[in-house]
Amino acid sequence: MFFLLFGLRTRDEPVDSRVLTCEICGWNAPQTRFARTTRFTLFFIPLFPVKPRKYLLRCAHCMGVREHRPVLA
Ligand SMILES: [Zn+2]
Repeated sequence: MFFLLFGLRTRDEPVDSRVLTCEICGWNAPQTRFARTTRFTLFFIPLFPVKPRKYLLRCAHCMGVREHRPVLA
């Protein structure tokens, strides 16, 4: 008998951290930027991304998470 184990795995990897004004609570607090990637897995081994990479900011004061869209100028 053969089982095919497949699924998705989402990981958050910290990129950097800086002090900014939080858009959720309004405090000046360290905001950690995360890169979130979702990959297809086969037998628990991540193979290839299935969604585009997304950047998130997490506030150290209120622990709120919001999407970060970098301004390109
Ligand atoms: Zn906050």
